[in-house]
Amino acid sequence: MAELLKGAPVAGAIIERLIARAGQLRSRGVVPTLAIVRVGERCDDLAYENAAIRRCDKIGIAVRRFRLEPDVDQDRLLEVLEEINQDKGIHGCLMFRPLPKHIDERIVCQALNASKDVDCMTDRSLAGVFTGKGPGFPPCTAQAVMEILEYYGVELEGRHATVIGRSLVIGKPVAMLLQAKNATVTMCHSKTRDIAGICRQADILVAAVGHAGTVTPEFTNPGQIIVDVGINSLPEGGLTGDVDFAAVEPMVKAITPVPAGVGSVTTAVLCKHLIEASERAAV
Ligand code: NAP
Repeated sequence: MAELLKGAPVAGAIIERLIARAGQLRSRGVVPTLAIVRVGERCDDLAYENAAIRRCDKIGIAVRRFRLEPDVDQDRLLEVLEEINQDKGIHGCLMFRPLPKHIDERIVCQALNASKDVDCMTDRSLAGVFTGKGPGFPPCTAQAVMEILEYYGVELEGRHATVIGRSLVIGKPVAMLLQAKNATVTMCHSKTRDIAGICRQADILVAAVGHAGTVTPEFTNPGQIIVDVGINSLPEGGLTGDVDFAAVEPMVKAITPVPAGVGSVTTAVLCKHLIEASERAAV
């Protein structure tokens, strides 16, 4: 039976440290503050927003919500971001995406000041992930993968990590973060040939695909550690990852569950980035 790498203890350890850091900031008169920008009322945005607010409350982070109608025009959204940029009392901003189709998401994302970009929506933050320098932060989900590996003491240096998926939100940044920890990284995607054979060689396998059941026992080896980033809705209700958990779990050394894996660490990472941004602004 594989070791189950649950997200809750990872998030708990992060939050405990953040409560102390938020307290220090408040004692210096700084109230760490997150802006949340939401256009419309998508169910998954609302669920994430509520989870983020609960986490922020627990840590001592204030939240300012900017709720906009789904037909808001682009100029108004740009004004909101400019207001956030100019407000010294706001230290970071989470904006839900995708934005409605009538808005040019690329233009809007670039409008945020990179020092307040706690979830890597600007190119400047993304460049920082690739260069290892810069004012922004990696995407929260990509960083959550790293936090899980670190918490459970997974050695990365010199080991072979394979990432399935090459999106700018997860696949590519995770590959960069793993490489920064001296792993040897292979990236797979929808055009990769013999993907099972390549993945089978990995010590660490990160699945960020968006299709249930992609990772089957043929992708694995008995020493493998799997981080399943996928969140896929089941027709009968509930969520599942990208890994065929029932078939794969008995075949590997360790695996994250879905739900209760990566997803439960993401909001803790968001708060970590926010506290870090607040500390930088307070210097
Ligand atoms: P995405 O933009 O759709 O990218 C999916 C990637 O998977 C692409 O690079 C695609 O390859 C690759 N792919 C698709 N089918 C494949 C296959 N059969 N074999 C190999 N590679 C395949 O998705 P994303 O935004 O990166 O998200 C990935 C998953 O993470 C989704 O399930 C999403 O819901 C989940 N997610 C989880 C969290 C969390 O907190 N846990 C947060 C955000 C997202 P090509 O580039 O060749 O098309």
